[in-house]
Amino acid sequence: MGEQIFSIDEEEFAPRPKQDANKFLTKCIGKYNVNWSAYFRRGVLGTVMFKNIVGHDQVVLRLKKAVAKPSHAYVLAGEAGLGKLALAQAFAKALQCDRLDACGQCLSCRVFESGNHPDVLYVKTSKAKGIGVDDVRTQIVLPMSEKPFRYRYKIFIINSPLTPQAQNALLKTIEEPASFGIFLILTEHDKLLLPTVLSRCVTFKLNPLTDEEVAQITGLGTESAAVLFAHGNPQRAIALTESENFEELYRFAQSVASDIQGMALDTVSVFALYSRFEKYKESIQTLLDMLYLCFRGQLPKPSGALTKSNLPAGQTVPLAIDVFRILDDITAAKKALQQNGNFQMTIEMMLLKICQQ
Ligand SMILES: [Zn+2]
Repeated sequence: MGEQIFSIDEEEFAPRPKQDANKFLTKCIGKYNVNWSAYFRRGVLGTVMFKNIVGHDQVVLRLKKAVAKPSHAYVLAGEAGLGKLALAQAFAKALQCDRLDACGQCLSCRVFESGNHPDVLYVKTSKAKGIGVDDVRTQIVLPMSEKPFRYRYKIFIINSPLTPQAQNALLKTIEEPASFGIFLILTEHDKLLLPTVLSRCVTFKLNPLTDEEVAQITGLGTESAAVLFAHGNPQRAIALTESENFEELYRFAQSVASDIQGMALDTVSVFALYSRFEKYKESIQTLLDMLYLCFRGQLPKPSGALTKSNLPAGQTVPLAIDVFRILDDITAAKKALQQNGNFQMTIEMMLLKICQQ
């Protein structure tokens, strides 16, 4: 890890209750069985400030502007691991700072860095279904009836899912907030919040980071397979480096890709090649992603998105077209398997097509 902060709250990754919303979340986050607490670096509050945040440039710009004249409620929406908490903390620290800049020198900043700022409150719950009505009453409504302890605002950072009932309970407070009240609601998707709540908040949607930004945050190289498969999520990149069979899968994909090169496979060889896939049936989607990457890697990296129309000068078209066909075949196989296509038939068909390019 470099000097950049990437502050992570363990709670963000706590086991989720079985609700529709959370099925949706699981889809967003992916299934990475990782001990996230290992990544929760204590003591990072000292480095929490906008200038240390990698990526999310537009969000940082707008939050910085908002420090002088903030609204009462903000929503930061984005999948777990993108850095919502770091943004919320940098914002809160700047809002309370004597110099409105997270200076690190004033009393507010120093107290904030100790992790015990009396006017930056983290709304928490131990309930599996998320923050409930009683949590809202005791941790938000009641404290809001009193002025800030000694600083400019009373800031509530809400970093766990809110049940719909809790959102309704929160609504009145957000509608008629005390002049000093500021809410920072962190959610994995804005669809998890009621429209009535959303309509009263300024919403920022966090996009996935670039591979370069992920590499910078994680300290992994931009060519690292984990970075390429993280789809812009630093947390996922780290998870991948630690996942048990990631390296094995990647090596297998590379060997398949190089075996296939220029090989006109007959049916017997395709059967033999298929049999090596069987072992990875459980991880087939990841494996096909990797295979895709191995073939895509044969194309020189153009700037911007990879499309047939923006191949770099000097790229021989036939090779590019072949590779694109192979990429299409892999994508088709992925889709077929997602739709419960027969494993053996799909993989064999894909191999045959690839080999006949
Ligand atoms: Zn300060």
